[in-house]
Amino acid sequence: MSNIQVKKVSGEEQFKNVISHAKEYGFIFQSSEIYDGLSAVYDYGQMGAELKKNIRDYWWKSMVQLHENIVGIDAAIFMHPTTWKASGHVDAFNDPLIDNKDSKKRYRADVLIEEYVAKIEVKIQKEVEKAKARFENFDETMFRSTNPRVMENQKKIDEINTRFKTALNDNNLEEVKQIILDLEIVCPISGTRNWTDVRQFNLMFSTQLGSVTDDSNTIYLRPETAQGIFVNFLNVQKTGRMKIPFGIAQTGKAFRNEIVARQFIFRMREFEQMEMQFFVKPGTEMEWYEQWKTKRINWHRSLGFPEGKYRFHDHLKLAHYANAACDIEFEFPFGFKELEGIHSRTDFDLKNHMEFSGKKMQYFDPEDNENYIPYVVETSIGLDRMFLAVMSMALNEEVLEDGSSRVVMNIPAFLAPYKVAVLPLMKKDGLPEKAREILNRLKLDHNCLYEEKDAIGKRYRRMDAIGVPYCITVDHQTLEDNTVTIRDRDTMQQVRVHIDQLPAMVNEKVSMSAQLGKLM
Ligand code: ATP
Repeated sequence: MSNIQVKKVSGEEQFKNVISHAKEYGFIFQSSEIYDGLSAVYDYGQMGAELKKNIRDYWWKSMVQLHENIVGIDAAIFMHPTTWKASGHVDAFNDPLIDNKDSKKRYRADVLIEEYVAKIEVKIQKEVEKAKARFENFDETMFRSTNPRVMENQKKIDEINTRFKTALNDNNLEEVKQIILDLEIVCPISGTRNWTDVRQFNLMFSTQLGSVTDDSNTIYLRPETAQGIFVNFLNVQKTGRMKIPFGIAQTGKAFRNEIVARQFIFRMREFEQMEMQFFVKPGTEMEWYEQWKTKRINWHRSLGFPEGKYRFHDHLKLAHYANAACDIEFEFPFGFKELEGIHSRTDFDLKNHMEFSGKKMQYFDPEDNENYIPYVVETSIGLDRMFLAVMSMALNEEVLEDGSSRVVMNIPAFLAPYKVAVLPLMKKDGLPEKAREILNRLKLDHNCLYEEKDAIGKRYRRMDAIGVPYCITVDHQTLEDNTVTIRDRDTMQQVRVHIDQLPAMVNEKVSMSAQLGKLM
């Protein structure tokens, strides 16, 4: 195998590279760019739409196809407004916001505090790494519980977290502000501590249904897909003859008027969620919560990115509906951030829908001969964040053996937007016709590209840059013996194979089924 070295870049540089690459190669464009864009809204281009669809498919198949007791639905974005009263979103779907009076910039108060804590965590991690490099049989737990600097910093973190948690639970916004003042957190733009009071801000977008404008016609763009599942719980249970425990999955758009929307597609105002609500017998929810934590982390790990890129983070403040909750965090180029949430939502949603609608939301358990409102364990992942995670990991600049470099997207082959590029070596001598013959055989099963312009080396580079895992080159020998070369994107190695071998070979290399098999 040739000697390929991945260039090391800082997180900040990697993030910039991802954003510009996404635009240059048709993955992501700013929404309505010709009008200077719309803040925190993005469009997926020709490559991005395919990658996004494949990630969505992988999630859907792993949830619905692999589980006999999970089915999928597609509920509408608009819902009866009482839905959001019952779910608690009208009253409690708020973020605490704070403004800096000098820079006039707006922040989420909780994020300011969390970022402060994250900085201390980085300090601790640095100490740990330094010690790890120095000692051979390094015991991290022991080190953390004996090193004075680490202990002091950890104590600081625990104190802030406890204080912050109490303030949030008591809805004590003055105390939240006081924490920011006591920690001497400054605005990154003005550098001052001239903060306004903390206020709550509801994140739901509202609009009017029909032509009459009054309050009774106010409806909301759904801020989560979950409620479409809850209101259909009985429909699905009855028509699908589902027995508890069972799950309902859904993917679709959600909308939140985020206070601070930045970091590209990490925090958008219109985004897509992939959610699954798992209905269980009350009292068994913690077992299922643990099971789903394991299943979901295994799903992430199945993509083959380094283990250290993921970690669990337990919620300090539980949402109004949860009795246990954690996030799967991913190390994005700008640090560890939430990628997926796993929540034990109790019977909060069904119970409230029952109360507000007057309709029974109970399940008759034939085994125990009793009626109950099921408890729910939810897994909720942002498709756009998942897309960003894949792109951040896949995009690499490599230095090759001969000193030249290439930009490559090492997207797992089963997720790649296009699986194969068919390239005639030259635009003459019947090579294009032969290439199209091969293309026509493969395109029934896969997204394939055809390209005859430019020198072959240049075409390979372009295919690397958009993450095409395999390039098939048709040359003069092909006309004689029906063999082609197939080039592997990651190793750049080429092998010569008969064209009759291609369909099976490509199928095997890019198969999503084989990947799903790893999850069984
Ligand atoms: P955060 O704390 O980052 O605001 P959250 O805890 O409000 O996220 P959830 O309500 O748990 O998020 O939503 C589930 C998932 O939906 C998140 O894990 C995330 O992947 C995705 N998500 C939430 N808000 C956004 C957003 N504004 N843009 C893109 N994805 C989002």
